[in-house]
Amino acid sequence: MSAILVTGGCGFIGSHLIDKLLSQKRKVVCIDNLNDFYHPEIKILNQKPHLNFKRYSFHKGDIRDKAFIREIFATYSIDTVIHLAAMAGVRPSLEDPVLYTDVNIIGTQVLLEEMKDKEIKKFIFASSSSVYGNNDKLPFSESDMVDQQISPYGATKKMGEEIVYTYSHLYHIPTVCLRFFTVYGPRQRPEMAIHKFVRHILNEQPIPFYGDGTTARDYTYIDDIVCGILSALETTDDFMIYNLGNSEPVKLMELVTTISEVIGKEAILDDQDMPFGDVLRTYADISRAERRLDYTPETHFNEGIVKFIDWFRTVKIDYPELF
Ligand code: NAD
Repeated sequence: MSAILVTGGCGFIGSHLIDKLLSQKRKVVCIDNLNDFYHPEIKILNQKPHLNFKRYSFHKGDIRDKAFIREIFATYSIDTVIHLAAMAGVRPSLEDPVLYTDVNIIGTQVLLEEMKDKEIKKFIFASSSSVYGNNDKLPFSESDMVDQQISPYGATKKMGEEIVYTYSHLYHIPTVCLRFFTVYGPRQRPEMAIHKFVRHILNEQPIPFYGDGTTARDYTYIDDIVCGILSALETTDDFMIYNLGNSEPVKLMELVTTISEVIGKEAILDDQDMPFGDVLRTYADISRAERRLDYTPETHFNEGIVKFIDWFRTVKIDYPELF
């Protein structure tokens, strides 16, 4: 049986995707370097259920390591690659931009080099809403100009889209770039706003509150993102870009109020200036994905927040040292 290679499969999005792929009886090879961007034990926990499946193989290694990647392709018959491994996040990319370039661009190219003489039916590249920067036009659509990046992270994702296009064109690798819009849900990365706010409000600690509360994000629930990725696997285009968002932006103040109400505690706001590199709002035009991927986000924001908080309360009890 041919296998699907998932890079970064122990992370937030990757582990949910693998849950689903394994439930569909697919064979999955996961590679991840389990780096310490956040606690590696969280990633080990994310993949724990996958280890029960014979159709699942895990290899710890780095996408920048050519010999490692070559060995993976030599060992397995891989016909699909879902490339999620990356250094993620806008703010941390300002701290170490060279690392972001190294992993997100060079790492992607190492993978592409190994794929170019293989029979790959589909390559999925995890791009980001960050490529829209401070786009004036709302909502953001795939045909908008995205030539002016305002963060190192956004720049690496835009460059990633360019380089995967080049390989798709030269070596006939059918490719889909998915621009994810702020994904949330159980196992979300701990440095992301929802995770941080829930933690701090529960602990009665101040939360960093940037600007006047009117910035907005198009929060998209993890299950909807996984559905979008699975649909993208079935497409037949040579190259296509899709927004995967919720198309219902939520203001920062509304986010804080919703979390406070669900938890039943007041938020203590620590007012701060808007960080460099942050965009004012994200808002996805999802009409292309609706039309061609049959993508329809189903989880309403309030419902998703309740699910996240329920998950968080449980893991906090089970693994107090990690959360
Ligand atoms: P994550 O950090 O939870 O997952 C990424 C995984 O990749 C981690 O497990 C990490 O250990 C692994 N990894 C990182 N560098 C690696 C390397 N050099 N070699 C091998 N493995 C490596 O992040 P996530 O939120 O699940 O994001 C997954 C992808 O989606 C990323 O490409 C990210 O940029 C993109 N994305 C995420 C969001 C979001 O809101 N979560 C939004 C837009 C785009």
